[in-house]
Amino acid sequence: MTHKITARDVAIVYRGKLDREPVLACHGVDLDVAEGSFVSIVGPSGCGKTTFLYAVDGLLPINGGEICVNGKPITGPGTDRALVFQSASLLPWRTVWSNITYGLKLKGNFRQAQSTRIDSLIDMVGLRGFEQRFPSELSGGMQQRANLARALAVDPDILLLDEPFASVDAQTREKLQVDLTEIWARTKKTMLFVTHDIAEAVFLSDRVIVFSARPARVSAIVDIEMARPRSLETKHSVRLQEYVKQIWHWIESPT
Ligand code: ADP
Ligand code: MG
Repeated sequence: MTHKITARDVAIVYRGKLDREPVLACHGVDLDVAEGSFVSIVGPSGCGKTTFLYAVDGLLPINGGEICVNGKPITGPGTDRALVFQSASLLPWRTVWSNITYGLKLKGNFRQAQSTRIDSLIDMVGLRGFEQRFPSELSGGMQQRANLARALAVDPDILLLDEPFASVDAQTREKLQVDLTEIWARTKKTMLFVTHDIAEAVFLSDRVIVFSARPARVSAIVDIEMARPRSLETKHSVRLQEYVKQIWHWIESPT
């Protein structure tokens, strides 16, 4: 199996400013993400999930260990990775279409020929008919769809998602989860998804990685053996609930 992402003994420290104590966010994180797989990280609030994800994106430096993508240590952000933030980070004065193509334009490689690809991306995320709307005219769920399309527009190998559905209502959230599994199946991206919602992690993933309380290290790895494609029926199945219980146990009483 090819590993797309490997982390070995990763330590990340926030340096204290002036009188502040440094904060050790991650300490000894070891994990592997197989190419094309969907992996989630769960763990208690404040344990270091976002910190670790930002480090994989290259936004934060690491203070020990190594994070590799395709076997090469990362040195900063790259076009092979795209990050989807918790809150939709769309530019309010640009339309949906313009927000989605903005990253490509910045890189100077937006060609008219790509319009077709962007069009099918808009179909895939379910925003057909909303291309010329402004973010303020969209619901929270639709803003996150646009956010997702914007990340996919640059065609990265890896999508890093930080609780992208945390602020949408429960029903919308379940629809987004199902749609995300379909988008993943179609695009074959490697997904690293951070959430504190265990059922969400189990539903989406091939593998759930449990982080300990801060400083984060990996306290358990749970492979999710449930058939795909997964539907809302899967979401409410007994089997999924059993995985959720098992993962809760790891979080509550880590070894
Ligand atoms: P999670 O995403 O798991 O909820 P975070 O990665 O956001 O947790 O934060 C991990 C720890 O690092 C927390 O204790 C948080 O307060 C601290 N932290 C996050 N960002 C900073 C920062 N910029 N400076 C100092 N400490 C930070
Ligand atoms: Mg977080």
